[in-house]
Amino acid sequence: MKNKFQAILLSYFLLLFSGSACDTPEPGPPDAGLYHNYAELTQELARLQAQFPELAKVVSLGKTVESRDIWAIKISDNVTANEDESEILFVGGHHAREWIAVDVPLLLARNLLENYASDARTKNYIDNGEIWIIPLLNPDGHQYSVTTNRLWRKNRRNNGDGTFGVDLNRNYGYQWGGPGSSGSTFSETYRGTAPFSELETQLIRDFAIEHQVAAMISYHNYSQLVLFPWGFTNAPAPDQTLLSQLATTMADSIFAVHRVRYTPEQSSDLYLASGDATDWLYGETRVPAFTIELRPRSSSPGFILPDRDIQPTFQENLPAALFLIQWSQQGGTMTLRLK
Ligand SMILES: [Zn+2]
Repeated sequence: MKNKFQAILLSYFLLLFSGSACDTPEPGPPDAGLYHNYAELTQELARLQAQFPELAKVVSLGKTVESRDIWAIKISDNVTANEDESEILFVGGHHAREWIAVDVPLLLARNLLENYASDARTKNYIDNGEIWIIPLLNPDGHQYSVTTNRLWRKNRRNNGDGTFGVDLNRNYGYQWGGPGSSGSTFSETYRGTAPFSELETQLIRDFAIEHQVAAMISYHNYSQLVLFPWGFTNAPAPDQTLLSQLATTMADSIFAVHRVRYTPEQSSDLYLASGDATDWLYGETRVPAFTIELRPRSSSPGFILPDRDIQPTFQENLPAALFLIQWSQQGGTMTLRLK
């Protein structure tokens, strides 16, 4: 009897400690709470397309190294036609752990579609333009953040030296390799082996050029900032006055919703960063491109924004997105200098 008890006790302890003996944490189920995980995002985009077939079209831009589709949803009247209309791009989820930066652009898509029939302003934007939303550029990293390491940032590229991941927002080809990016594969800001070495950034590059997008917002968190180029240098961009005006207008419109302050500033004021999406788009095509750093303001709670903040963060960002759509559709676009 005593031996049996000891055996049970022993197996219990073995069970208890078998998990901690392993360096790699066991992946958990892909549960992101009220945030969308990749499967839920895929489902929601399909649902929107099914519910609004005249206005929404979901396309896969390509497949990641782990075979996940990178989805884009196009929102326009006559959505299956390529009309000669102004195009704008909203992209989220460059960085895996920034979950709110996926849900905000996803909720933007849903809001535009659900308000088309009832809101004249929304209808006008959808009728007169092509609105493209890529809610999750880094699905591999995001899935890893959901199942295994909540604070994962990069994609899941195997660097071949025991490390994984390239910082997608240091991999774009404008001033690639400059300050605020790292050549070390171990670094959180590893820029990759070459400009546009990663499929994810190639897709944004090719998309922006093919569609001649007139403006872009790239969502991140955290810090509550509306950032405009440059990020690679403290020197002002040639169009700094206009970029600053647009950023200030967006920050004011965000504040007006819940009186939550997002500070408009040049990207380099936060810290120098080379090879990011907005420097590339603005540097290559001279159209306005912004990084919006969403809630919270500070490192507590930092990336782990409670899911009760999803809706208010979206609500306060909606008018800023609508403003940039309106501005781009009214011909505010700076001269294109596409190669
Ligand atoms: Zn980020």
